[in-house]
Amino acid sequence: MLRGALGGNVLRVAILSSEAVPFAKTGGLGDVAGALPKALRETGGDVDTVLVHPLYEETDRRLLREMVFDNLAVDWLGGTRRVNVWYSDAPRAPTFLIDAPEYFARPGIYGYRDDHERFAFFCRASLALLERVGGPPDVVHGNDWPCGFAAAELRSRRNHDPYYARTRTLFSIHNLAYQGAFDAGELWRLGFESHDERDYFMADGVASALKAGLLASDALSTVSRRYAEEIQTPEHGHGLDWLLRMRRDRLIGITNGVDYGVWNPATDPHLASHFNAENLEGKRHCKLDLLRRYGLPEDLDRPIIASISRLTPQKGFDLVREAAGAMIETGAFFVSLGSGESEYEDFLQTMRDDAPHRVGVFRGFNEALSHQIEAGADIFLMPSRYEPCGLNQMYSMRYGTVPVVRATGGLDDTVENYDRTRGTGNGFKFARYSAAAMLESLYEALYCYNEPEVWRTIQLSGMHADNSWQAAARRYVEVYRIVTGL
Ligand code: ADP
Repeated sequence: MLRGALGGNVLRVAILSSEAVPFAKTGGLGDVAGALPKALRETGGDVDTVLVHPLYEETDRRLLREMVFDNLAVDWLGGTRRVNVWYSDAPRAPTFLIDAPEYFARPGIYGYRDDHERFAFFCRASLALLERVGGPPDVVHGNDWPCGFAAAELRSRRNHDPYYARTRTLFSIHNLAYQGAFDAGELWRLGFESHDERDYFMADGVASALKAGLLASDALSTVSRRYAEEIQTPEHGHGLDWLLRMRRDRLIGITNGVDYGVWNPATDPHLASHFNAENLEGKRHCKLDLLRRYGLPEDLDRPIIASISRLTPQKGFDLVREAAGAMIETGAFFVSLGSGESEYEDFLQTMRDDAPHRVGVFRGFNEALSHQIEAGADIFLMPSRYEPCGLNQMYSMRYGTVPVVRATGGLDDTVENYDRTRGTGNGFKFARYSAAAMLESLYEALYCYNEPEVWRTIQLSGMHADNSWQAAARRYVEVYRIVTGL
């Protein structure tokens, strides 16, 4: 099984990710890393993919098939650290899970003081593992700052380690704001001692795992075309726009896909009722179910505006806060699912307390409810300040829920504004980051909601949109081939 996992006469790709559905997820990266290996396998027989992932406390042990290494030796902190490695094919692609309890058997995924050490270890152990599973990979595909360590290490090992001499690296940016910064004094302890290695990491006096990924990798990708352009500007570059401009000939935007095996209103096991583009009747049942779940009046004619989101400044909640009164005055319901910064959690709670018959708030992470919201809501609101790709606008479309979004990053690439004269479009978008601009788009959407035929046209346009992984997976394969010359 191991030899088959990374063997044969095909392009061998190892994807490293700190989260992947169904093992762990905090946001879009989890969805993407869970879906891409499977999509790559389905593009045709010429890519052999494995996923390498940490074994977290929250990872469901029933997903593990067997332990494939006990005591895999990893060079670590000047000595040898031994770890167990588990195998799973739960995402319908071979996955290895690194079992290092002192780093990963903790509640949650990120947010620890030693995160840099935890993910540096994950990368070091992943590369040690890939030396044991049937020949070197052609490509190591890392995702976001936790995998920056692997890019730096592979870049320097290329010069002196024949095993990895031909391995090339692709580094995908899912969100440039998270940089994995840490004290530069730690670099030496983590085994990055050479002048070149320090250079990869150093940014404004601190070490940045993200910068190492951006500088040391052979190719860079990000999750939409528009975001690929935006991150080269000071406004969205988080201090690294100069580097992305410098490497722009190595940077490509590939819009994420949707795993329609998971996000399909005709089969979704979380829903009270199923529906599809031909018959939307089930969506009314889902709406009723959603209103009940939130304890809101069972008024099916009133539109539901919904949000599912990490509650961070990125997601535009200051616009919602500013517009809250006006949103409630429209007569629509507003339901929210999310957790994050307390100022937004508190504001949403206040919004609910002020209008308990109109507003429903669920604080926390709840996979089932996120599906139920997509199915039961009428309008999905994403007023993001920036959005590398965004997935919920695409899920919404498939569920006949019309997105109202700010025209940034992947939201701009995937949502087409409704054009009344031509009858085209699958949602509503606004450009300026302001509550007034957001409200204008919302008013327009609510106006159309009251014209059932118009609304149906917009819903169907979204439901028929094809945002499947196939196209994206083919583009990743192209990049793998370009970067390896194979
Ligand atoms: P980001 O990665 O910036 O959080 P994306 O739109 O790319 O944003 O992906 C977010 C993913 O996380 C979606 O699948 C969304 O449904 C999910 N999600 C976000 N918050 C929650 C929550 N509180 N409960 C369940 N799922 C959530």
